[in-house]
Amino acid sequence: MSAELIPAVAEPAAAPKISFVSLGCPKALVDSERIITHLRSEGYEIGRKHDGADVVIVNTCGFLDSAKAESLAAIGDAMKENGRVIVTGCMGAEPEQIRERFPDVLAITGPQAYESVMSAVHQAVPPQHDPFVDLVPPQGIKLTPRHYAYLKISEGCNNRCTFCIIPKLRGDLVSRPVVDVLREAEKLVKAGVRELLVISQDTSAYGVDIRYQPGIWQEREVRARFYDLARELGDMGVWVRLHYVYPYPHVDEVIELMAAGKVLPYLDIPFQHASPTVLKSMRRPAHQEKTAARIAKWRSICPDLAVRSTFIVGFPGETEQDFEELLAWLTEAKLERVGCFKYEPVDGATANDLGLPAVPEEVKERRWHRFMAHQQAISAKILKGRVGRRVKVIVDETSGTSAKGRTQWDAPEIDGAIHLVSRRPIRAGEIVTAKIDAADAYDLHGTVV
Ligand code: SF4
Repeated sequence: MSAELIPAVAEPAAAPKISFVSLGCPKALVDSERIITHLRSEGYEIGRKHDGADVVIVNTCGFLDSAKAESLAAIGDAMKENGRVIVTGCMGAEPEQIRERFPDVLAITGPQAYESVMSAVHQAVPPQHDPFVDLVPPQGIKLTPRHYAYLKISEGCNNRCTFCIIPKLRGDLVSRPVVDVLREAEKLVKAGVRELLVISQDTSAYGVDIRYQPGIWQEREVRARFYDLARELGDMGVWVRLHYVYPYPHVDEVIELMAAGKVLPYLDIPFQHASPTVLKSMRRPAHQEKTAARIAKWRSICPDLAVRSTFIVGFPGETEQDFEELLAWLTEAKLERVGCFKYEPVDGATANDLGLPAVPEEVKERRWHRFMAHQQAISAKILKGRVGRRVKVIVDETSGTSAKGRTQWDAPEIDGAIHLVSRRPIRAGEIVTAKIDAADAYDLHGTVV
């Protein structure tokens, strides 16, 4: 075999090197161990020599003045010997002191801010994925079909809705750094994902806890803010669907992105009720908002907007009048997709201790059926109004020339579907154009054009 015919074997690229300095007490040491474990699992090499490292991390101590002086000296050495330095640890809680002496450090994060340190490292020197060695693909292991993926932007919640124990279980809101979220989204898109489903407990509150801390994404500053995140995701060329959004005033800006076709015209807003008295007892965020009027305003900006929501009937103290108000609100708001639950007194929920009278089970049951029948008529009318339109459909399942997919108005698992017939074979994950031929109570039927 001549030399030219021997297939070239690519030399594995050298792993990025991090020089790590760990100062301070055992707690700081544990922080260092966690950061190093993360770095190693992502393929970074760890050493102590600054010279030749791609970046230096200094985990500082700020307990005593002498410890601060030692930390500043360690940062000084790293700046002199390498120049690309990330500072973390206790001194990072007072970034001004560090910036004053070393304005060129790449990033400063506080103690236990593992995600922020990893995010700063990723920005300074992105991890390398080696498909022959890594057990996990770059986009992570997904349990969803290949063409859509959930993108979790934060954990926990700052609200205290009285029926919910999530804040007790998961704590207050902790937003992920914006660059981490965008990087994960980018990896998913590169791996073939065509639809990103943004989730959290309270999506529109994203970034509040980290004061909208900016990051550098594609050489631009992007803030950890609901609108900025939606805009950047909208530039990735895939469907972006927003879940668990509360009608805070700044949601209006995101509707503009929907009208511009950047983000799907779909909002999942768990309203839970419409009676001001019940919403107040529920302690719902934005409960004073005139939500039906807001929805009408959003539709005037983006006429194709679909709103999906969930409601609870039979919350303690809910009167027949409250329930009637809810039905009237549904008639006015004309939501496309709606789910309804009968209230359950979850152990540990504050609602159980409000001293409000429980709604008898049979009343809850009756209200639930009335609610469902009322909303079904509204949804069916909306679906009927779409017959004859041409729409984009993402294909979820196929069988020969028939397929099941979703329009921009439908999220996987929770909303309806469109059943398609096609002259040509189509594949799951494809986005096709279809003409809507018919509608029933929940689903559409169409033909691929
Ligand atoms: S129901 Fe309320 S408290 Fe519970 S996660 Fe949602 S917004 Fe937070």
